[in-house]
Amino acid sequence: MKMFDLTGKVALVTGGNGGIGLGMATGLAEAGAAVAITGRNAEKNKAALAALKKLGGKAIAIAADVTDEKQCRAIVADTVKQLGRIDILVNNAGMNIRKQPQDYTLAEWQQVMRTNLDSAFMMSQAAYPHMKKAGQGKIICIGSMTTIFGAPFVAPYGASKGAIVQMARSMATAWAKDNIQVNSVLPGFIDTDLTKGARRDVPGLGDRVVGRTPAGRWGVPPDLAGTAVFLASAASDFVTGTAIPVDGGFSVQML
Ligand code: NDP
Repeated sequence: MKMFDLTGKVALVTGGNGGIGLGMATGLAEAGAAVAITGRNAEKNKAALAALKKLGGKAIAIAADVTDEKQCRAIVADTVKQLGRIDILVNNAGMNIRKQPQDYTLAEWQQVMRTNLDSAFMMSQAAYPHMKKAGQGKIICIGSMTTIFGAPFVAPYGASKGAIVQMARSMATAWAKDNIQVNSVLPGFIDTDLTKGARRDVPGLGDRVVGRTPAGRWGVPPDLAGTAVFLASAASDFVTGTAIPVDGGFSVQML
């Protein structure tokens, strides 16, 4: 459908070399966008790029660390240089350190905040002038069920995921005049490298998630593609500042 068509658009997905980021990058590419993905791991970048190129459109991979402000600016500049513009930014790169609140060092707290929150701020700031100049833009931030709920092992992670959604709301209000929509996605439990670590660290998590999720299963990265396309396309031009759970009903089930 034309409303969801991304032909001629350029999307930049941080952490697009695997997991949820690659699931969304794949959806955006299938909808017609040229896609730039970033990540630190060269092997993962290479494999993801090959998969995206198979879809037939333009794709590039940029090896970079989004905790570094200079590198964030370079990622955006490189995307514009190689693909000509930037219409869609997905702030997806993220990580977790799972401990009880009393056990974190300040450095660990800051590492999680810098990766999950500061990066999204720096990337959005870097992309803004290009979107403003183009007279349009779409920014998608990735929250979490920890945006809504607490858990014993997510003090910095939950803080970052609550904050990223509030940051997105502020940007949505500030940049509406520039025709830039800023929204968030709140994934439920999705099977990725990140949650493989969680299943290892938190005994029984795999089964507890299945039991607690009305859909009765873990999500998979392609489950995020449709919402990414919606929030990246003209279909969402009057949608801004919101946060859409993609969670199989996890966040609306009381018991
Ligand atoms: P993965 O571990 O599979 O992906 C994380 C991605 O972020 C990788 O591409 C990784 O690439 C990149 N990344 C991490 N740190 C950096 C950094 N410093 N600089 C550049 N890139 C970085 O996890 P998911 O796909 O699960 O997570 C993606 C997002 O979704 C995260 O924000 C996560 O918090 C969020 N999320 C995940 C949920 C889930 O159930 N899986 C639920 C809710 C939210 P590389 O290692 O190559 O740098």
